[in-house]
Amino acid sequence: MTVTDEVRTTVATLRRTVADLHQELTRYQLVVWTAGNVSARVPGQQLLVIKPSGVSYDELDADAMLLCDFDGNLVEGSRLPSSDTAAHAYVYRHMPHVGGVVHTHSTYACAWSARAEPIPCVLTMMADEFGGDIPVGPFAMIGDDSIGRGIVETLSSSRSSAVLMQNHGPFTIGKDSREAVKAAVMLEDVARSVHIARQLGEPVRIDPHHVDALFDRYQNVYGQGTAPVASPGSPGGVA
Ligand SMILES: [Zn+2]
Repeated sequence: MTVTDEVRTTVATLRRTVADLHQELTRYQLVVWTAGNVSARVPGQQLLVIKPSGVSYDELDADAMLLCDFDGNLVEGSRLPSSDTAAHAYVYRHMPHVGGVVHTHSTYACAWSARAEPIPCVLTMMADEFGGDIPVGPFAMIGDDSIGRGIVETLSSSRSSAVLMQNHGPFTIGKDSREAVKAAVMLEDVARSVHIARQLGEPVRIDPHHVDALFDRYQNVYGQGTAPVASPGSPGGVA
């Protein structure tokens, strides 16, 4: 496969972005040793940027990142790609809106994966970020398409950007790799909070219509977008 100069510039930027985002996984204590991985789709190409397999997080700079095609083959780089590359590639092939994929073995999310139990939507931040329960994906062996297939099948029937693969751990998606890392960080936080809540009793579910309203507001209004301008006589905009 030939890579044009324009694509090469985009790939260089993505190499830096994906390398930096791997440091977020250690900063938020979502990974140990060499576990976990972040990838980014190269827009408009059947290509993705991902980390090499079995390399210390201290060594994961932009130059260490690899360019692979959507069959998981190495296109640029000198090391073996992450063992989860096929799963990431499968997601990009089948979910065109996804620009970033993250996988970790973060402790509390894995505890729910180990029980094959969805995390119930009992916190407003879950409704905001995930739009409902965090679903469980099927048990799948590493090494072929089965993890990717399980992720896509589960997330295609959910608003959630996170799936707990049974007996394994979480995969998260986003419109870009930064959003997918954010989902991985938020997921571990809610997995921990709901786990702790359960030690003291049964957490209270949020009514579905409130979940819908929270999700809609957070996804469409919240943040540093264009501030609504109050019209004369109106009570003002949102906080
Ligand atoms: Zn894994």
